[in-house]
Amino acid sequence: MKRSLSVSFAFLTTLMAGALHLRSQEASMPDLAKLQSMTARLAPVNITADASRLPEGERKALARLVEAARIMDDLFLRQVWAGNEAMLQQLKKDQSPFGKARLHYFLINKGPWSRLDDNAPFIPGAPPKPEGANFYPAGATKAEVEAWIKSLPEKTRGLATGFFTTIRRQPSSSGFAAVNYSIEYSNELTVAARLLREAAALTAQPTLKTYLTSRADAFLSNDYYASDVAWMELDASIEPTIGPYEVYEDEWFNYKAAFEAFIALRDDVETAKLAKLGSQLQDIEDHLPVDPRHRNPKLGGMAPIRVVNVILAAGDGNCGVQTAAFNLPNDERVIKEKGAKRVMLRNVQQAKFQAALVPISRIVLAAADQKNVSFDAFFTHTVMHELMHGLGPHQIQAGARASTVRQELKETYSAIEEAKADIAGLFALQYLVDKGVLDKTLTQSMYDTFLASAFRSIRFGINEAHGRGIAIQLNSLLDYGAFRTAPDGTFAVNAGKIKDGVNALTRELLTLEAEGNYPKAQDMIKRLAVVRPEIQRALDKLQGIPVDIEPRFPAAERLLSSAAQK
Ligand code: ZN
Repeated sequence: MKRSLSVSFAFLTTLMAGALHLRSQEASMPDLAKLQSMTARLAPVNITADASRLPEGERKALARLVEAARIMDDLFLRQVWAGNEAMLQQLKKDQSPFGKARLHYFLINKGPWSRLDDNAPFIPGAPPKPEGANFYPAGATKAEVEAWIKSLPEKTRGLATGFFTTIRRQPSSSGFAAVNYSIEYSNELTVAARLLREAAALTAQPTLKTYLTSRADAFLSNDYYASDVAWMELDASIEPTIGPYEVYEDEWFNYKAAFEAFIALRDDVETAKLAKLGSQLQDIEDHLPVDPRHRNPKLGGMAPIRVVNVILAAGDGNCGVQTAAFNLPNDERVIKEKGAKRVMLRNVQQAKFQAALVPISRIVLAAADQKNVSFDAFFTHTVMHELMHGLGPHQIQAGARASTVRQELKETYSAIEEAKADIAGLFALQYLVDKGVLDKTLTQSMYDTFLASAFRSIRFGINEAHGRGIAIQLNSLLDYGAFRTAPDGTFAVNAGKIKDGVNALTRELLTLEAEGNYPKAQDMIKRLAVVRPEIQRALDKLQGIPVDIEPRFPAAERLLSSAAQK
C-alpha cells in the first residue's frame, strides 16, 4: 500500500508537471487576435502572369507543371517535420474562426512555428522546431549523426552528406543509413515524374522538353546532374524550376535539399532590357570611379540572368518571407562547368514593392518626393545590383601574393560587397542616363526609390550582409549631406550632392576592395553598419506596415480547374 502510494505519488507528480507544462505552453500560445495580427504582417496579394498568349500545347504543359509543383508542397511539409502531415489533418477539422486562423498561419509557415518570430511555436502541442528538420533519424542528436558520418569510409561519406539523401535508422542494426530521395519519397516523385513527362510531351520547345524529361529521370534515379545542366540551358517561354534545391531547412549541416517549385513565364520585355544593360558592362567598368589600374580591361562572360513572372511558387519556395530572386544550381560540379543562373521574380518583387515599399515611402520620405518612387527604378536598380557583383576588383594582389577580395576581407566581405553592388549600381545607372542609354526620368526616381528601399531592407535587421551594407550606405550618404533629415523626421535626397556622394562612396568601397584592406573594412562596419537614433525613430513608425506578402496564385488555380474540366 505504502509502496504503491509512493509510486502513484511519483506518477502523479510527473503527470502534474506534464499538465503544467502543457498549460503554460497553452498560455504562451497566441490567442485569435494575436494570431491575426501576426498573419497581417504578410499582406495577401495576387501573384499572376498572363498565360493566355501561349499556344494551347504550352498552356496544357503549364497546367501539368502546376500540378507537379503542388506535390512539392506536400513533400516539403513532410521534410520540415515528421509530425506536420498529422497536424495539418487535425487543423483542417477545426472549423471555428480560431481553428481556421491557425490552419491559415500553419500553411504560410509550412508548420506550427512562426518563421518571422525565430520559429516560436503557435499551436499547442508543437515541439520546438527540429533543427535537423526531418532529414535525420528521429531522436538522434546532431553529435550522433556527426560521429556516424565521420566513421564512414570516404566512398560512402559523400552519399551521407549529399543533397539528395535522408539519414534513417537501419531496421536491421543499431546504425544509420543514407536513403535516396527517390526511395524515401518514391510515391510522390513517381507522380511528379509522370506529370513532368506529360508536360514534356505537350511542349514544342526543345530545351524545355529536355529539362522536364531529364528532371523526371532524376526524380526516379536520384541523379540530378543532367537535369541541372538542362536547367542552365533552358531557353523557353515557360521557365520552371522544380525539385530539391536549397539547404537552409537543414539547420544542422546545410546538407539536405528541400523540395520547391517556381513555375514561371519568361518576361521577354524585361529580358531584352537586361541584355541592353549587359552590353554596357565593359564601358561601365572602364569608367568606374577608381584608380584606372584597379579596373578590369576585359570582363569575363556575364552570368546568365533571367527575368520571369511567377505563376506558382510551392514548397520551400513559398514559405514565410517570399523569395524575390534565386541563384542556382547549388551543385559545384555544374557551377564549375556551366556557371550558375540568377532568376529574378519580377511580379513577386512588384508585389513586395506595392505592399511594403510604397507605404514605407509615405512615412519616411518628404511629402514632395513620394511621387517619385517607382517600381521601374526599384527593379532596374535591383538588376543593376546583380550585374555590379561581377564588376570591380575580385582577383587582387595582397603584397606579393595573388589573392581575392573575399579572402582578404574575411567576415567583412559580404557586407562590403553588398554595399558595393548597391552603390556602384546607382553610379552605373547615373552613368547610363548621362550617356543617353537610359531615360533621363530615371535620375529623379532612382535616388528617392533607393532611399525608401533602404528603410525596407534595414527593417530586416543589420545582423546580415544586406542590412549591414544598406546601413553603411545610408549613414555615409547622410554624413556626406547627399541625404538629409527634416525636423519632422522624414528623409530627402539632396539633389545638389547626391551624384558626388554616390561617386565618393563607390570610390571608397572599390578602393578598399582593390587593396584588400581588412582593417579599413572592419572600421567601416563598426562606424557605419549601425542603426542611428534618427533611423530608429523612422523604423519605429513603420510598425503597422506589412513586412512581406502572402501570395495567392489565381492563374495557377485557373490552369488547374480548366485542366480538370477537360
Ligand atoms: Zn547582392
